[in-house]
Amino acid sequence: MSNLNEKSKNGNNYFDSKIDKIVEKFNKIKKKATIMLDSGGYLFQKSKRMDVKPEEILKLYSELRPEIGVVLDHPLNPLVSEKENAKRWEKTLKNTIKMWGNVDIVLLPTVHGYSKDALIDACKQLKTQLDPQIVLIGIGSLVPLIRSTKGVRKLFSNSKNRYNNSLQFVAEAVRIVREEFPDSFLHVFGIGSVSTMHFLFSLGVDSVDTVGWRLKAAYGAIQLPGVGDRFVTAKGKRRVNLSNHDKELLEKCKCPVCKGLSLEERLHNLDNAIKNGTFKKRAIHNAWVFNWELTMARRMIGKGRYLDYILTNISNRAYRKVIEHIFVGDSLRES
Ligand SMILES: [Zn+2]
Repeated sequence: MSNLNEKSKNGNNYFDSKIDKIVEKFNKIKKKATIMLDSGGYLFQKSKRMDVKPEEILKLYSELRPEIGVVLDHPLNPLVSEKENAKRWEKTLKNTIKMWGNVDIVLLPTVHGYSKDALIDACKQLKTQLDPQIVLIGIGSLVPLIRSTKGVRKLFSNSKNRYNNSLQFVAEAVRIVREEFPDSFLHVFGIGSVSTMHFLFSLGVDSVDTVGWRLKAAYGAIQLPGVGDRFVTAKGKRRVNLSNHDKELLEKCKCPVCKGLSLEERLHNLDNAIKNGTFKKRAIHNAWVFNWELTMARRMIGKGRYLDYILTNISNRAYRKVIEHIFVGDSLRES
């Protein structure tokens, strides 16, 4: 990886060895899996400046050669002005045009927008400037809306806005992009939990990415199909122990950590109260559960039974409300 290191070789040995290790690890993973590499643009979501240049990302992509590389985008922030977000989109569009056709890997362009008009415009600009039939398309900037923090929720529920919560706008955003790109493979960036994945799939999204399984493991939580975060040792108000039903689910887990063990051994392996050595086990278990749910989702979509499946299995009330509103026709105001 000589080119990658050229600049740093003059100065920083520590940086060199870090880069070498990352590249080595990357190449090992590449032998076993298909890789989509993100540009890291989301790291600038809270910052006004963006110092990385699209040319630098192109150089990185042409050296690492992932199967898919995400364009260098500049995600929006719902808590800044419309004008500021418009500037961010302009920058993303400029970067996308600079990168398009200039690297021989598949690029994934992304659209961003916090209003119907902004999103439609963004889609049309990409179609005009890149290709009317883009094969892969991503939607970015939805994470703060999915998390629906206090300030964001308020923003999407004022009287001028017909979306009475930010999740409804997420559903609307997916619908708009799906309509503009009916045959493209649609990816949504940065989702957290299994329930969010089901929520987005039900809206017509094809793929998602998450580090939720790892973050939850670090926080001490384990995932089980259809239920929220659970803790083997629940200390504190917001932490939930495993119910008898959850334990039955855990007994069925076929992940490499749980397989072949008794319930007690499984609980011990995943116990957040044990200081050393359980994080990795929880992370593997959580990743397995996530992947299992993904397989189930695709199976159910194939059988035409997905809506029934998620309405039975999704425990998150906010997601259920939006899904029922769209597909079952229940009024959102009723509950
Ligand atoms: Zn397991």
